[in-house]
This record gives sequence, structure tokens and C-alpha cells, in this order.
Amino acid sequence: MKCAVLYSPFDLRLEERPIPEITHNEVLVKVKAAGICGSDVHFFDGSHPYRNYPRIHGHELSGIVEKTGKGVENVKVGDHVVVEPLIYCGKCYPCRIGKYNCCVNLQVIGAHVDGGFAEYVKVPGYLVHKIPGEMPFDLAATCEPYSIGYHSIHRAQVTDADKVLVLGAGAIGLTAIDFAKLAGAVVYVAEVSPFRQNMARKFGADVIIDPSREDTVNGILELTNGEGASVVIEATGNTKVMENTENLVAAGGCIVIAGLTNEKVAFTGIKFTNREMTVMGTRNSARAFPAVIDSIASGKTHSDILITKRFPFQDIVSALNYTAANIVSEGKVIIEF
Ligand SMILES: [Zn+2]
Ligand SMILES: [Zn+2]
Repeated sequence: MKCAVLYSPFDLRLEERPIPEITHNEVLVKVKAAGICGSDVHFFDGSHPYRNYPRIHGHELSGIVEKTGKGVENVKVGDHVVVEPLIYCGKCYPCRIGKYNCCVNLQVIGAHVDGGFAEYVKVPGYLVHKIPGEMPFDLAATCEPYSIGYHSIHRAQVTDADKVLVLGAGAIGLTAIDFAKLAGAVVYVAEVSPFRQNMARKFGADVIIDPSREDTVNGILELTNGEGASVVIEATGNTKVMENTENLVAAGGCIVIAGLTNEKVAFTGIKFTNREMTVMGTRNSARAFPAVIDSIASGKTHSDILITKRFPFQDIVSALNYTAANIVSEGKVIIEF
């Protein structure tokens, strides 16, 4: 099979390898579409903390079941599927309480083990989800990024009574907007990039705040009669933005941190008790795929708008270079097979 192997930063090579052998509980998937994630770009340019070369990346995958192990019962050959890329141990504390998304032994397909920038990928059967036969493979490949937005909104238990502020309208922010709107909430977005502001508008955000022109705190207080947002979704990874969430959230409200940073983030102690703030993290997703597949397949999301560019698999080297150079001026870039 043809596969794209990253040997070191920017050294991505298309090469020929044998099709992976599957075991009793595994499935071989013929890849049809693969999204390029921000983390794939960071593996490519060498800035990702979990980089590990050589590796076949790609974890936002859809395709067709080519072969199944004898122990696999949930899918059969020919089924159209998406891959949930989280191999978990099932034994550690988070796994025992159902939070396999933060398993301490987590192995992400396309990061810790080889992924789907290849004609075929092998995955444990329990990570393969059947999709409707008529669902386009490119939209299906957005299930993984959508699962992240879905999980962040479900962590905060967003309802139609909420005023949700989404900070940052990259893939996580945009997919969070979709699920917050589906829950019936009013959605405000703070974003500096004109491209992303425009995307947020297309996704149905009620008000866009441009923090380069207007103070986000003033803007939110004005929009909420001085109360603040009942839910704040932090999807920038910027420390200063994270610290400002304490001024944006309503008393009794909830802050969900989805953005990543290695730096310390400081909150004012008294605001935790005064406002009885809930601050929570969100990571990957757990048991989200069936609902996410249903939302995308039934046209309830803006997954078609999320995808802004496509490359054929043989041009994957150009695709990664292009995505790295245009990360804030494109939505999802999809590799098609
Ligand atoms: Zn991703
Ligand atoms: Zn575990």
C-alpha cells in the first residue's frame, strides 16, 4: 500500500509498505478521506510535544471495511465507517469511570501508533463506527473534530437557557458553536482572524466580538445585561485568554478549557467562591461518535462549510506544507483517496 511516513520535521515521504496484518479483534479499513488536524501540522513542523518519528499520522478518518478479525461483530466487510482514534486500556481509574478519553495509557491512532495517511489502516474493532452508506466520506472524516466540540458542550451541559461564549473559532470552536446552537443556546464568539469570524458567522454565531477592536469583557457584559456568559468555552490555548475567562463567566457559570498550553494559568482565588465558578477541562471525547455521526449525516451541522480545501492523497506533501502555511485562513483540509 501507499503511505505517507514522516521521518523528521518536514521530511514526509510517500512510500510503499505491506498492507497491515490484522489480529482477532481488529479491522482493516480502506481509507477514503482523512482530515488534517492542527496536531498533524505540529507533528509535521516538529513542534508537537508527543512527536515520535518515523510515523504515519492521520486520525480523522473515514473509509470502507476491507477485512475483519474473527472476533469483530459490530461491522462487516463493505460497511462504510469512521474511526474513533483512541485506544484505551479499560483498566485505569478514568477508564473504570467511563472517561476513556483521558485514559492514562491512551494511544492515539495517528500519533502513538500508525494512522490513516495511508491506503489502509488497522484499528481495534471497538473503535470502528458504522455510518450511513450515502454519507459522503469527506463529511464523515469531520466526525473526529466534531466529537471534540460535542464533548466540550456536553461537559458544560449546555441547554437553551445558556448564553455560551466561544473563545477562538478554529475547528474546536466552530464545532462547539454547532452543538451549542443545536442545544438551543445563544452563542457569542470572540475571534481576531477575519477568516474565522466569517466562518463563525456561517456557523450561526449570534454575535461576533473582535478582541482586536473591542474589549471582550465589556462586549460580553453589554450583551448579557452585566451578567456574563453562563458557559465559556476556551478554544485558543492562549494563557492570557484563559486567565480572562474569570471576567467573562457569569456567577454560577462554567468555564471549559479546550485549548492547550504548557504554561501556568492563574485565576483570582476569591472569584471561585464569590461566583461559585466551575472550571473544567475537556479532552477528546467519550461515547460521542454515534450522536456526532447522526448529527452530521442528517445535515444538522455545518460540516460541509468546515471543509474548505481538498487534496488527492498523492499530493499529501503539498497538502501538509499548504496547511502549515495557511492554518488561520483555511477551515478543514481533507485528503481524498
Ligand atoms: Zn484532530
Ligand atoms: Zn485506561
